[in-house]
Amino acid sequence: MGGLNRPPILVATRSAHKLREIRGLLADLPVRLLGPEDLGLPEHDEEDDLEPFDTFARNALSKAKYFHRRSGLPALADDSGLCVDALGGGPGVRTRRFAPPDRVARWGRDEANNRWLLERLEGVGKDRRGAHYRCAVALTDDLRHEVVEGIVRGRIARRPGGSGGFGYDPLFVPEGHDRSYAQLPAVVKTATSHRAQAIRRARGWIEREVLRNRGGE
Ligand code: IMP
Repeated sequence: MGGLNRPPILVATRSAHKLREIRGLLADLPVRLLGPEDLGLPEHDEEDDLEPFDTFARNALSKAKYFHRRSGLPALADDSGLCVDALGGGPGVRTRRFAPPDRVARWGRDEANNRWLLERLEGVGKDRRGAHYRCAVALTDDLRHEVVEGIVRGRIARRPGGSGGFGYDPLFVPEGHDRSYAQLPAVVKTATSHRAQAIRRARGWIEREVLRNRGGE
């Protein structure tokens, strides 16, 4: 986080995993990437309602604007999810809330979601298990906003494997590999993921809107 003279950006997420990945992906830029907790912003119930839209882009922008309003800082939000061919592109924007609540209470969110996904794909052959992760990154400050996206294609494994990453990573096998993101070295996800691609596209905005004119400071 270091360098107090570096301009701050609020990363608008309560997910420690997303925050860690985004910090890693932008580590070379002279900015401070702060999470809501770093600013002492308490979690409000209304945050549950920030993703009502049917596109990742609109949900990401909704989160970025909300956290910008609460902090006054330039904000960067990520809305992401898994789109499975055999499920007609689902769960899509509903990825986080895919498994029913009783399953989540029993297993915890990530494990419940992974189990639910495997059950939905029971009997679906290898050639029909195609999927992609999609990530929209929204950036906003007082005057301007931008939304960029990234996609990585792959397939859903028959059983979970590995302990790296988070969420659906134990089941997601990226194209060109035969192991899941949770099994592969972290550098593979860093180089290829939906989030990595979206963040790459977000750099221009940060350079223009946040770092511009700060060279002499
Ligand atoms: P969001 O917080 O509404 O964007 O929900 C994201 C959902 O997609 C959560 O269920 C995450 O676990 C899942 N997800 C997003 N990105 C990844 C990833 O990189 N790996 C695994 N799961 C992910």
